[in-house]
Amino acid sequence: MLGKLAKRMRLLGFDVLYHRTLDDNEIIRLSLEQRRVILTRDTAITERPLATNHLFITGNLVKAQLDQVLLTLHGNTVPGFLTRCSLCNEALIPIAREEAKDLVPPYVYDKQESFLRCEQCKRIYWVGTHVKRMAFPAEKQ
Ligand SMILES: [Zn+2]
Repeated sequence: MLGKLAKRMRLLGFDVLYHRTLDDNEIIRLSLEQRRVILTRDTAITERPLATNHLFITGNLVKAQLDQVLLTLHGNTVPGFLTRCSLCNEALIPIAREEAKDLVPPYVYDKQESFLRCEQCKRIYWVGTHVKRMAFPAEKQ
């Protein structure tokens, strides 16, 4: 339900576990074991006695959701833009510019000075406008 929010939080550096296939019991277990806050829009899970460490997300739009999380849990600060893969939640590693040459479109390579790679999925990241837009979505998204 909150896949977009998870991706955006990761792009801002947050350690976010997100799997569509997890059931409520698994989510609660992981939250207790790993001391994670459960972000949810599902009242069935917020009413469970062991799920006290949760934040019920009220907004429909990802921008509002992100604002709520940042304000409520993180004092409106973020760990670090573009430090974590938005798909795998793995830390991004800076790579030499030449390493990215055959892995990104030529116009991107020409314009960008620095690149990062996720060691898990091998995805290449750079501080392009599309990534900025993903992390800081416009109001209407
Ligand atoms: Zn990845």
